[in-house]
Amino acid sequence: MLNTLHSDVTLPRRISVLGATGSIGVSTLDVLQQAGGRERFDVVALTGMGNAALLAEQAKAIGARIAVTADEANLGELTERLAGSGIQAAAGRQALIDAASEPADWVMAGIVGLAGLAPTMAAARAGATVALANKECMVSAGDLFLRETAKAGVTVVPVDSEHSAIHQCLSAEPDHTVERVIITASGGPFRTFTRDAMEGVTPDQAAGHPKWSMGRKISIDSASMFNKGLEMIEARHLFHLAPAQIEVVVHPQSIVHSAVSFTDGSMIAQLGMPDMRTPIAYALAHPSRIAVNVERLDLIKAGRLEFEAPDEARFPALRLAREAMAHGRAAGAVLNGAKEVALEAFMARRIGFLAMADIVERVMAQLAHLPAPQTLDDVHAADAEARARASAIIA
Ligand code: NDP
Ligand code: MG
Repeated sequence: MLNTLHSDVTLPRRISVLGATGSIGVSTLDVLQQAGGRERFDVVALTGMGNAALLAEQAKAIGARIAVTADEANLGELTERLAGSGIQAAAGRQALIDAASEPADWVMAGIVGLAGLAPTMAAARAGATVALANKECMVSAGDLFLRETAKAGVTVVPVDSEHSAIHQCLSAEPDHTVERVIITASGGPFRTFTRDAMEGVTPDQAAGHPKWSMGRKISIDSASMFNKGLEMIEARHLFHLAPAQIEVVVHPQSIVHSAVSFTDGSMIAQLGMPDMRTPIAYALAHPSRIAVNVERLDLIKAGRLEFEAPDEARFPALRLAREAMAHGRAAGAVLNGAKEVALEAFMARRIGFLAMADIVERVMAQLAHLPAPQTLDDVHAADAEARARASAIIA
């Protein structure tokens, strides 16, 4: 039935999914299956890292040509699981970039962390439309990434739900009519906690997001609101905004995914149930839409939509993101690199929850002199320096 519904929409044919085994990747493959699966799409490459079993299963189900694990230690298992399927198995960083460079019409950038930057850039250089979930591309390398995608002449469609919402609110609106974008935040599991209560929270508590089901790192980043800080920087680059045009509003129901206010006093918002398959389907079908089987928003059932100001004293990540935007240069890469190390230390229970922001703030101060990265190597160098400084503070 869905196939008939889709028959009049032109969808990209050759597809690759980077980070197929993650939360975004699994949702992407579900959307692809709903939209016609192997009958409709020519799936070029799927990539993963630790989960070779799922990667092999996904590749067989959708009829992928290549399956790549980023971890060479998993090549044996992947090859074994793909034996007889005709699907090519590969492993390692270069194999990931090679697979991303295979000609494709649409690539989902769903790898987590800065590891997603080089493969995503490779896909863009090879001419694919980039469905961008990986926010680190924008946070750590925004100017460079946009320069490269413009040079390649490819379209970047955001997948992060807030940026998908803003993209939808902005469709056909001239840039100069935009006053502000309002990025909504659920507030995470500690929205009502005092700073004292946040001191002793565990990684499992922090990973328990009240509204969205996501990967573990982004869930913990949501609890600290570092995720929202990254999203502010992401929005600045994606939509060419001045920092002062970006506002964060806490909205615990996660129904309004973001909004834009215009010079005539109008505000347009995008609403829906919190399900990443909606922004993924939007990115796949853009500039059209396809039917996708997700729970529909029932406004009567939703009943109340609440909004409140974020508390930057309890969630300093928002202030740090503003400082990074104001500073420019390499501050995005530094913030992200230091945050990654602090996050991993928190996940390993080596530091407390509140220490994450303290560490990031100190590293940003130490590395304020770093210039704006001009190449991928510059981005990785700034990231490595930030990681080293954060590790030294933690040790
Ligand atoms: P997950 O942790 O669930 O998945 C990450 C994916 O990347 C997996 O396929 C994983 O492989 C792979 N991967 C992990 N490390 C590496 C590496 N070093 N090199 C190559 N591949 C690697 O993350 P999410 O799906 O939650 O998030 C993906 C990206 O999308 C992130 O940047 C996140 O911020 C962003 N995002 C996610 C949202 C969500 O709802 N989940 C919402 C908005 C943005 P494996 O699992 O096999 O080890
Ligand atoms: Mg988001």
